[in-house]
Amino acid sequence: MKQSIVKCPGCGLLLPNQYFAEPTRFHASGECNELFNQLSFYTTSHGKPEFIHQLALDCYGAQHSGGVTKSITTAFSLIGLYLVEEQGFTGKQVQQVHMALGRSQSSWPELTPPRMSAPVTVQDVLNTEAGEARDAMIRAWVSAVWATWTHAQDWVKEAAKPFIQ
Ligand SMILES: [Zn+2]
Repeated sequence: MKQSIVKCPGCGLLLPNQYFAEPTRFHASGECNELFNQLSFYTTSHGKPEFIHQLALDCYGAQHSGGVTKSITTAFSLIGLYLVEEQGFTGKQVQQVHMALGRSQSSWPELTPPRMSAPVTVQDVLNTEAGEARDAMIRAWVSAVWATWTHAQDWVKEAAKPFIQ
């Protein structure tokens, strides 16, 4: 029997259809979201104070915007990517910014997802050997996803301004 393929509506990944339900948090196929869950086992057990899981979460969130994804998720993800990519923040520092933003603001713009998804996906990260190589791939993922959002970068920089010294 021929295996059917499902395309992720967020990142475009083509994966064998396992008839997983689509997640309610991200505009993604269930199969793609399952890869993110696998990556999360790695990033959350990483044990370093930089908290690299935040980077992976923000990459995934920004790359799977639109659809069911809430505007706050997209906004927070992009602010995180910007602070890491252009301001040298750690995941831990981004987490603190997210908490402060959550307390201070309650409405977020609907940012339009880019037409072309970033060339790096959660699958590329998972296929990279665990350890330094994979962590470097997560950083490359941050750069790649941030680069696809040029149309929203002015808004993101303005929103992040209060947190930059
Ligand atoms: Zn995806």
